[in-house]
Amino acid sequence: MDACDLLIVGGGPAGSACAWRAVRGGLETVVLDRSQFPRHKVCGGWITPAVLESLEIDPRHYGAGRTLQSITGFRTACIDAREAEVACGKTVSYGIRRCEFDDYLLRRSGARLHLGTNLTSLERSGDAWIANGQIRARMVVGAGGHFCPVARILGADARKEIAVVAQETEFEMDARQRAACAVRGEVPELYFCRDMRGYGWCFRKGDYLNIGLGRLDAHGLPRHVADFVEFLKRAKRIAFDLPSPMQGHAYLLLRDIRRKILDDGVLLAGDSAGLAYSQSGEGIRPAIESGLMAAEAVLAANGNYGAARLAGYKTQLEARFGNPRGDLATELGRKMPIKLLGAISRQLLANRWFSRHVVIDKWFLHADQPALKVSAGAAADSRASAA
Ligand SMILES: Cc1cc2nc3c(=O)[nH]c(=O)nc-3n(C[C@H](O)[C@H](O)[C@H](O)COP(=O)(O)OP(=O)(O)OC[C@H]3O[C@@H](n4cnc5c(N)ncnc54)[C@H](O)[C@@H]3O)c2cc1C
Repeated sequence: MDACDLLIVGGGPAGSACAWRAVRGGLETVVLDRSQFPRHKVCGGWITPAVLESLEIDPRHYGAGRTLQSITGFRTACIDAREAEVACGKTVSYGIRRCEFDDYLLRRSGARLHLGTNLTSLERSGDAWIANGQIRARMVVGAGGHFCPVARILGADARKEIAVVAQETEFEMDARQRAACAVRGEVPELYFCRDMRGYGWCFRKGDYLNIGLGRLDAHGLPRHVADFVEFLKRAKRIAFDLPSPMQGHAYLLLRDIRRKILDDGVLLAGDSAGLAYSQSGEGIRPAIESGLMAAEAVLAANGNYGAARLAGYKTQLEARFGNPRGDLATELGRKMPIKLLGAISRQLLANRWFSRHVVIDKWFLHADQPALKVSAGAAADSRASAA
């Protein structure tokens, strides 16, 4: 039996951020993931600088030998309509490759790793948990993504939830493809569906190209994706066929926290808790911030892991991510007839002021929300809420 203070199920951004903070706080921490790392993760690989700041990662250090594409602007438009290009004048985002980024975060966390190990059972034994009959821990954090088995134990049923669905493909371009790609690395391109229920992206990171599309409804996703790729060719953004098929995944947007996210000896973080931002679908930052907050809550509970003592975690998540804004369609008025919504969206997304201040700063960069700093203050807040 491998005994530890904290078992984290899932070694993605939520799990590794939680592990990093917990290890620094002195907890014996084990991360269990069904994949061997490095592993592929379906994702665009766009992150905001706040992510690196919260984890105290120096971009120069991370970028040595790994893909770290600086992003200084964006192009926005409705598909098949006039576009706006916004220059921010500094690095406002980065492009990373998830196979590198997740592996880096997990290894630097300092936790003991059980990789290539599926969680097959998690049972209560007194005031502890026994995972797979092999790992004993008093505290468990479920960070296994949308289909996290720990979330299932807390009652989540992904089949009944309304999730965003997205597909992407990422590949290394050869010399011919590089010459036939008009997209610049520092200016990713975002193209919104006419009904504003999703958007496609074309995102160059060094020699890699990531193309994908996500929508609020799964209905007709492959058709939307195929139309989008044809549009990119028509608009001369790429002049070649995609060499690899799209892969898809689902996850929840933070409209409100609907899953049960804690109980005696257990918390959920990241996609497992359903925290991705509604307008952009950005899930890495909420995953990392909630992972850090989960570790703070465990440290603050100081060995008393009853649900009442952990309740401050939910309060903190609500304070950080609460009052979620609506998704794109809601923001622009879902009750509007689709034709009118389409006409207004085409105008707005081609307008540089709207693109900069609303789409980029508000919806995508959350420019008004500074990076989460994990601190003694956060732990004290958690203790106060639990008291
Ligand atoms: C097509 C697409 C594009 C996206 N693009 C972006 C983007 O550009 N930027 C952004 O911020 N967000 C993006 N997202 C969202 C983002 O990928 C997720 O929100 C983020 O990965 C959540 O991190 P996590 O750690 O909670 O979960 P995950 O990254 O999903 O990690 C969960 C881990 O748990 C492990 N696991 C699962 N089940 C088990 C089990 N039974 N036993 C053991 N281990 C298990 C998995 O192997 C995995 O490693 C995108 C999503 C999709 C689908």
